[in-house]
Amino acid sequence: PPRFATVATAPPDSILGLNEAFAADANPKKMNLSVGVYKDASGQTPVLRCVKAAEQRLVDGEKTKGYLPIDGQPDYRDHVRRLVFADSIDASRIAVVQTPGGTGALREAAALMNSQLPAIRVWISTPTWANHQSIFASENIPYDNYRYLADDKKSFDIAGMLEDLTGKTKPGDAVLLHACCHNPTGVDPTAQQWNEIAAVLAQRELLPIIDFAYQGFGNGLDEDTVAVRAITSVCAEAIVCSSFSKNFGLYSERVGAVSVMSADADTTTAVKSQLKSLVRSNYSNPPRHGAAVVATILDDSELTAMWHGELTEMRTRIKALRRQFVDTMKTTGAGHDFGFLLDQNGMFSFSGLNPMQVDELRNKYSIYIVGSGRINVAGMNEERMGELCTAVANVIE
Ligand code: PMP
Repeated sequence: PPRFATVATAPPDSILGLNEAFAADANPKKMNLSVGVYKDASGQTPVLRCVKAAEQRLVDGEKTKGYLPIDGQPDYRDHVRRLVFADSIDASRIAVVQTPGGTGALREAAALMNSQLPAIRVWISTPTWANHQSIFASENIPYDNYRYLADDKKSFDIAGMLEDLTGKTKPGDAVLLHACCHNPTGVDPTAQQWNEIAAVLAQRELLPIIDFAYQGFGNGLDEDTVAVRAITSVCAEAIVCSSFSKNFGLYSERVGAVSVMSADADTTTAVKSQLKSLVRSNYSNPPRHGAAVVATILDDSELTAMWHGELTEMRTRIKALRRQFVDTMKTTGAGHDFGFLLDQNGMFSFSGLNPMQVDELRNKYSIYIVGSGRINVAGMNEERMGELCTAVANVIE
């Protein structure tokens, strides 16, 4: 009998599935505020100018399509280390491996835990990016949740988080943290709160796994390292998973890196060898193009300045959209203050809309947001803000 006849259909991805529904929606007034990609004022997800310029150079100068080393392109890896750690930690203590996107970095981190840290459990925020659970489950790492978003669905439950990390974890457990622009809530700890979190991690001997998918989207490239700095200044070991999908707009090129910080250089050498062996059996070596683009930009001061400018443009535009949404909602007379959105960071916000209101937005107005009420602010549009806010006001009344 055909073996695959017994295969059951897997549920569609909760967020990417919305994209398919959006594409099939015939309403010309449809709006997609679900999937986490940046869009400019014309509704496009643009190729950054610095990326185009770097690609031009690469096409002209490319001499081979030979394999990259298992751990990726060396100058790219060095740039990642400096972006994430600056020079705060000696390079001999950090093993960086280029990965296919931030997802690849998280998966490589989980694989390292699976192969080298038996009995480890990972603690994940409530709520978190839905793929986090799946990634750790795929590597057989058990997970549990710590409190993060307060019951008001607007603010950070620092007391709950510290209580859970102190009272529920076992020494040696891992804790997954969002360095900035928490997905899906947009709610980030302050610098002082990061110090408090870091102190608990150190005191309880917990392993921090820092998901850094939005460096530069919060307050700035360097400003957004506040969590990494607070943690690495008191913890001897940490894992950072970088993604350059958003900040370089290189989504489909799959550019990321996992950086493992160990207590000393000898340990780092051993960890690096294990990371490489995991890559080898998984996908052998990473794709070249996206990482070469990033390295070309960061190797060149003019292109780097161009990148900083374009990143600032994206960040400021998202902040302006938040402000415009909050102000426009006030004019609808819906009587619901969305001012809390102004304290949130990055592309996403928890709007507080319930699943019924989310359904109504979609069915009546063809406005797509995620069932949890998560809105991709970067998908809003200046010119259509009135339309959006009128629809939101109608469903919350
Ligand atoms: N972590 C978080 C929190 C994310 O939001 C994303 C992207 N949606 C990723 C990791 C992975 O990004 P990438 O597309 O680079 O795999």
